[in-house]
Amino acid sequence: AAGTAAEQIADIEAHAAHNYHPLDVVIARGEGAWVTDVDGKRYLDCLAAYSAVNFGHGHPELLAAAHEQLDRLTLTSRAFHHDRMAEFVTELAALAGKDMVVPMNTGAEAVETAIKVARKYAHDVRGIAVPEIIVAGGNFHGRTTTIVSFSDDAVARDGFGPYTPGFVTVPYGDADALASAITENTAAVLLESIQGEAGVVVPPADYFPRVRALTAERGVLLIADEIQSGLGRTGTTFAIEHDGVEPDLYLLGKALGGGIVPVSAVAGNADVLGVLTPGTHGSTFGGNPLAAAVATAVVRLLRTGEYQERSAVLGARLHAGLTGLIGSGVTAVRGRGLWAGVDIDPEVGTARDVALRLLDRGILAKDTHTRTLRLAPPLVISRDEVEWLLRELKAALQG
Ligand code: PLP
Repeated sequence: AAGTAAEQIADIEAHAAHNYHPLDVVIARGEGAWVTDVDGKRYLDCLAAYSAVNFGHGHPELLAAAHEQLDRLTLTSRAFHHDRMAEFVTELAALAGKDMVVPMNTGAEAVETAIKVARKYAHDVRGIAVPEIIVAGGNFHGRTTTIVSFSDDAVARDGFGPYTPGFVTVPYGDADALASAITENTAAVLLESIQGEAGVVVPPADYFPRVRALTAERGVLLIADEIQSGLGRTGTTFAIEHDGVEPDLYLLGKALGGGIVPVSAVAGNADVLGVLTPGTHGSTFGGNPLAAAVATAVVRLLRTGEYQERSAVLGARLHAGLTGLIGSGVTAVRGRGLWAGVDIDPEVGTARDVALRLLDRGILAKDTHTRTLRLAPPLVISRDEVEWLLRELKAALQG
């Protein structure tokens, strides 16, 4: 009824705003690491919805949790309690090693929530009249007016002013710059544990330990945005675990909803999240029964450690293979676990050119910032599929 792929793309172009530039594929089904388009062609999904589909398309346990809840109760609002909330907040807080969580829906909402908490904590607890939050160059935390106010990506920011004040930017990975930027007005430092949209940028090994020491010393909150890097993607539950650091607040999203519903959360201890009192913050859909049921099932999958292990083991193979392509169309590879930013030699073309060649070969991947191809397959990808991806990428780089 919806027409051919070309007809559907024409309708989308005509009636959906052009705030994205998708590849010309219309996906109709998904199973595990694979999706199928409207013409029946199959693709290995190496983006996994920017890591929202860490557990693969249609994971049986997540689907079962969703189906069961759909038939029973889907929304109450937070005006009342519902019977999926207790296990959700208890188990998610325990996974994060924190006292409590603030349930929200999208990643940007979790970021906004943390900004509000940091400001309120600065006002109420530390007596700071005009709190500042330190962020990193190259950051990506979402698309709201406040969040784009502290983006340094001109495309994301330009023309959307006036901008929200109260943010200070320092280079990512530079602990000395951060140390110099902290003042008596610094409420928090907000950082991605690994910068995703910037091209899967892993900071130096001593960065987070130093940031943690500096922030702890000055009473400044450390907020780790794990919306893309967390929940198994890098071979650990949280990417910042690789650095041996525990932030004050974790920001979670994407995979928390199992690729089924939007679920996000801020996890922290009661002394910090306690600044939120009735009426100060909320969301109609935040923590709804369907979201809570699916997210609880996600937490239980992560508790097995199986997905973190897969990401660590298969990620090591992926990175070894990708590193082997340096000099053959690839100039650099970054990342951790089943997550890689692959810089494409300009002589081969742009990263989008390579993504289009991969599309022809039955692999979905996405470029970021012209030169970088980003790979983030579902963590259910098999060893053979990783090998196949590496072979196809090698061929795609050759033309
Ligand atoms: N933070 C990070 C690190 C992200 O990668 C993203 C999305 O890509 C967000 C926040 C925003 O999440 P959402 O698109 O769900 O608002």
